[in-house]
Amino acid sequence: MALLEELKKGITGEVSDASDERAKYAHDTSLFERTPSIVVYPKNADDVSTLVREVAKAKDAGEDVSVTARAAGTCMSGGSLTRSVVAVFTKYMNKVREVGSDYAVTEPGVYYRDFEKETLAKGLILPSYPASRSICAMGGIVNNNSGGERTLEYGKTEKYVQEVEVVLSDGTQTTFKALGPDELEAKKKQQDLEGEIYRRMSDLLISNRELIESHRPKVSKNSAGYALWNVLDTENGTFNLAKLICGAQGTLALMTSAKLGLVKPRAHRAMLVVFLSDLNVLPEVVRRVLPFHPESFESYDDHTLSLAVKFLPQMLSQMGLLSAIRLGFAFLPEVGLVLKGGVPKLVLMAEFAEDTIEAADKKAIAARDALADLKLPMQIEKNETQAEKFWIVRRESFALLRKNLKGLYAAPFIDDFVVPPDTYPKFMPELNALLAKYDLIYTIAGHIGNGNFHIIPLMDLAKPETKKVVLELAPLVYDLVIKYGGTTTGEHNDGIIRTPYLGQLFGDEMTRLFRETKHIFDPKNIFNPGKKVGGTFADIEDSFLKKK
Ligand SMILES: Cc1cc2nc3c(=O)[nH]c(=O)nc-3n(C[C@H](O)[C@H](O)[C@H](O)COP(=O)(O)OP(=O)(O)OC[C@H]3O[C@@H](n4cnc5c(N)ncnc54)[C@H](O)[C@@H]3O)c2cc1C
Repeated sequence: MALLEELKKGITGEVSDASDERAKYAHDTSLFERTPSIVVYPKNADDVSTLVREVAKAKDAGEDVSVTARAAGTCMSGGSLTRSVVAVFTKYMNKVREVGSDYAVTEPGVYYRDFEKETLAKGLILPSYPASRSICAMGGIVNNNSGGERTLEYGKTEKYVQEVEVVLSDGTQTTFKALGPDELEAKKKQQDLEGEIYRRMSDLLISNRELIESHRPKVSKNSAGYALWNVLDTENGTFNLAKLICGAQGTLALMTSAKLGLVKPRAHRAMLVVFLSDLNVLPEVVRRVLPFHPESFESYDDHTLSLAVKFLPQMLSQMGLLSAIRLGFAFLPEVGLVLKGGVPKLVLMAEFAEDTIEAADKKAIAARDALADLKLPMQIEKNETQAEKFWIVRRESFALLRKNLKGLYAAPFIDDFVVPPDTYPKFMPELNALLAKYDLIYTIAGHIGNGNFHIIPLMDLAKPETKKVVLELAPLVYDLVIKYGGTTTGEHNDGIIRTPYLGQLFGDEMTRLFRETKHIFDPKNIFNPGKKVGGTFADIEDSFLKKK
């Protein structure tokens, strides 16, 4: 293949078409598999430029090629899967370049766990880290617009992305950042692809302002579509294309570094844990707790807890001996619940963060008092060590499912929708009635304070009806979510699994703008095709995991 030879000649990093290398990148944590034809490990931004130029050239010459970026490959929507060229950033482009007084500059291949070590050394964090914090990397966090347990208080990654260095679809390297009116005019005058992007994107955003504004998501988290509503900052009078790259899944440009705002986390936390046996009371609990402004308000269900207890030794074996012993004892009450059959249907964790332990505790007590007449079992964990076991179960919920159920696969396809929490009383019974029509075992965990549910059915992928259920149930759930003003994905993004539903969510006019945006940035359609724009239901069927 001509492209392979050109890449081998031009790239200083590594290029391979060996089958074992290609097989490493055929999966992420989605329902899909696609084996790339070529693996590239770029060493620097120049390598990325060379890669993009060669792919564009090969496409001009009639080859059916494209390039898809991959950071740690933990995406649940299939965002980093491709049958063409995959660019893997974790091998070489994995340095934190700078940690300043309230920001950090990072390459895309840095694992979050390493990034956090460096920011914490200065007492700072990126508060939008996802639950996959120990396995994911910065390129994925930015390009999926990730959120997590602290998003309720601090917002998603889109809020923290200040600048991105990118390679455009003609191989040009540039930086997208907030531009004032004069700087924007100067950019628009450039006679190159970057100038064209600024001219046409600013026309598109200004002439469709009302349409875009009316489709700004009404819920507190969204990763669906292109975030056209985030580019113009009317308050500061700035225009920032970095905000559009955030969440675009590498379909508009390849990111080679990002400047991210950081915050100083509050020092102390207290957690109110509420055990629910009756889900009907959930809406009222959430309504009463939210006014106390928990930093996190998370949940996991009875299936998750039972799995955690069943696989406790494996979970604890990943920790040091002392932590494992301490946590082993801490879990004894849960072991008792499972043995006696008294596992609550849902465990809710509302964590309050303050500068002193007394202030955090006071808030947790006030929230507990506000629930007193509901007569629910509750407890307050007065510090982070006591709360740790709840966090372990919550953060491990998906991993527990993936690793431990032989024959059944944790199938993410209605895994991430969001509805406004004040719609729970009407939404939840309708959702339950819909799910009851299907013979599914599923777990529910999620960011209950944001209305962001992770419902993960356990399915046998060898059965032909599994595909049918995936394609039949998802649009029904999304109809319901849309009816209540929600979105199809709060953080896991569109990828292969949700791109075909963007029309259902946003309507024809907005999806036309998404197509135009894609065309302005990537007229040859070489960046991660079929994600965000052009993805079909046939793609879902074709890429379905064969077995697991
Ligand atoms: C157990 C578990 C829990 C999870 N919990 C959460 C959660 O709480 N919140 C959440 O948001 N997600 C969650 N996820 C999903 C996923 O882990 C996150 O979205 C994560 O941020 C993806 O990072 P990654 O490095 O694995 O990205 P990848 O899977 O490698 O890539 C994700 C997307 O970003 C694009 N991309 C990567 N690097 C670049 C680049 N340099 N330039 C352009 N595009 C690029 C890829 O093409 C792809 O479309 C979870 C996943 C698992 C397995």
